[in-house]
Amino acid sequence: MIIVLKSTATEAQISGLRSQMSAMGLAVQDIYGDNMSMLGIAGDTGMVSEDSLIRNEFVEKVLKVSEPYKLAGRRFHPADSVYEIAGRRIGGGAFAVIAGPCSVESEGQMLSIARDVKAAGAAFLRGGAFKPRSSPYSFQGLGLDGLELLKIAREKTGLPIVTEIMSQEHLEAFKRDVDVIQVGARNMQNFPLLREIGKTGKPVLLKRGLSSTIDEMLMAADYVLKEGDSPVILCERGIRTFETATRNTLDLSAIPVIKKRSHLPVIVDPSHGTGYWDLVYSMSLAAVAAGADGLMIEVHNQPVKALCDGQQSITPYIFGLLMDKVEKIHEIVAAGA
Ligand code: PEP
Ligand code: MN
Repeated sequence: MIIVLKSTATEAQISGLRSQMSAMGLAVQDIYGDNMSMLGIAGDTGMVSEDSLIRNEFVEKVLKVSEPYKLAGRRFHPADSVYEIAGRRIGGGAFAVIAGPCSVESEGQMLSIARDVKAAGAAFLRGGAFKPRSSPYSFQGLGLDGLELLKIAREKTGLPIVTEIMSQEHLEAFKRDVDVIQVGARNMQNFPLLREIGKTGKPVLLKRGLSSTIDEMLMAADYVLKEGDSPVILCERGIRTFETATRNTLDLSAIPVIKKRSHLPVIVDPSHGTGYWDLVYSMSLAAVAAGADGLMIEVHNQPVKALCDGQQSITPYIFGLLMDKVEKIHEIVAAGA
């Protein structure tokens, strides 16, 4: 941290600040420029409040040198993280697709979709048992019964399951039964939930918050990583902007930006990112071309009858066509420049 001092700062004021920082166990270094003086502060500055420092009338500004996330960042972990989850690899060139319906609706629906997405090459099966719906009157998911249907689909197909947790009260069941715990956009900054999930050590799929910056997503990842050794996969799923032509604005530039800042795998969800099934194909290919480590795609055997997100769900047939193209584009990207 660097504290830039005003030219009017007196020696008494500066020495008071030096003592305050030293008393907190921090190393203080004077930096003298031509027209300004600064104090360089090194050590664990977690307890130093920039907002309070700036209240000193002799302080011009406070500059943070290190990122507000340490574990998700590349500074101390330069190599890409490659995770092996239920026999599937993801990250650092290993590519995996998660596919399935928005919500678990019935055993027949889950089995039919699970078989189809597996045949097309999906590595994981998704399906929401607990649904975060904007209206309390919309279908809320089958809850723990839905989890049971996911388990049946896993048993019959061998596909590991990814499903969203909404409350800490279900953590035990998720820890026991789920292969990847999904944290939805609405809970990306539910810090107590993130901490508790981190303690399970289970793999986590962390979706970008509705209006979150990339750095906020990386800080949220640190909440999970700090607690133990949960692998964390980040997911770009579109953000709220002024544009209304799509449900969200899919931020594909987030992929290379995250890759610069973080070693964690990044996947893209073009279903929630666009909100329309006929945009999913092109945006999936674009995401792969931009370097995504995987995709999460909503697939439904009868989209017109889906209880949730039918408008953005593709059929198994289109998913099959898409997977062929995805594999080809990934091969080109993986071959490098
Ligand atoms: C989902 O994946 O089912 C979902 C609700 O997504 P998001 O949290 O991105 O809205
Ligand atoms: Mn959905």
